[in-house]
Amino acid sequence: MKNIVLIPGDGIGSEITNSVTTILEEAGAEVNWIEKSAGLKAYEETGNPLPDDTVEAIEEHRIALKGPLTTPVGSGFRSVNVALRQKFNLYSNIRPARTLPSIDTPFRNVDMVLFRENTQGLYIGKEKWINEGEDKRHSEAIAVVTEEASKKIIRAAFDYAVKNERKKVTLVHKANILKLTTGLFLEIGQKIAKEYPDIEFQDLIVDNMAMQMVLRPQQFDVVVTTNLFGDILSDLASGLVGGLGVTGAANIGDDAAMFEAVHGSAPDIVGKNVANPMALLFSSLMMLEHIDQKQIAENIRKAIYKTLVEKKVYCTPDIGGEGTTSTFTQAVCDNI
Ligand code: NAD
Repeated sequence: MKNIVLIPGDGIGSEITNSVTTILEEAGAEVNWIEKSAGLKAYEETGNPLPDDTVEAIEEHRIALKGPLTTPVGSGFRSVNVALRQKFNLYSNIRPARTLPSIDTPFRNVDMVLFRENTQGLYIGKEKWINEGEDKRHSEAIAVVTEEASKKIIRAAFDYAVKNERKKVTLVHKANILKLTTGLFLEIGQKIAKEYPDIEFQDLIVDNMAMQMVLRPQQFDVVVTTNLFGDILSDLASGLVGGLGVTGAANIGDDAAMFEAVHGSAPDIVGKNVANPMALLFSSLMMLEHIDQKQIAENIRKAIYKTLVEKKVYCTPDIGGEGTTSTFTQAVCDNI
């Protein structure tokens, strides 16, 4: 049995985590859930959106599955996602995008996994005013790329390719313009690629990448890039296969990992039994693969695909079904 910290989160969080834990139990996953709180509910109850005992549980067990968290606008509420990412140095953000049965999109046979560097680049938030005078305002931001962090994310992408029998790694950059920052990232990628002679290596400039992903997404296998490019391209990749509601995501570091749904807490549909658990479910399959319960993940994946074939009857309205969270959960369990 593997201990996993379960953070249901806010809004539809408990509805979709109930669905996911029911399905994993039906499939025989060897996990022991340790439920902890975070988000708005935790903030209202304890004054802290990320209570100490939640952090301590992740420190002890090192793996978490997290539902969506409501982020209230206003002071005193620090972003739980950012805090967890920093605290456990979860430097790889991993987003698979795979074509699903019965989910209509203009693209077929997409099967790529995008690795985004999660801690550096232009997203470190180092901005300043150079001039604040009226009509003369001038602001600047700093992008950071270090050799150490680049090596970690690029190696993570190559190691993933080897472990999952993938054939190619594409590194995305803008080294023709940003020669020192993304140029460094590219240079490190080229060096590391030599250590993996069985994996094909390709580098593409980010603007070309955006076009290629739409023209012929089937050519991509594993993709690795810096924080800002990865933020945009990972949503683009999700869009190719049906959007954030049907794709999983993970944040992984050297000794901790957090699997999560990327969509929000959907306050407009709370308690209506129409929340789609698929995104969190796919994240939980990444978690099962991470803890070496691959066969169970594969069995659940097949059961989801089978359920999707009868989408109209069993699935939730957001993907064109006439079913509910409960009918989807039951159908996946029956198909297992
Ligand atoms: P949202 O993703 O919650 O909702 C956008 C739309 O998508 C809504 O119509 C909602 O009903 C629908 N939707 C989302 N998830 C769904 C699901 N699983 N099944 C069916 N429909 C679904 O985005 P929002 O309304 O902009 O944000 C609501 C709250 O969530 C905010 O407090 C925001 O800060 C937070 N949020 C959290 C995360 C996170 O924790 N990772 C991500 C985004 C937004």
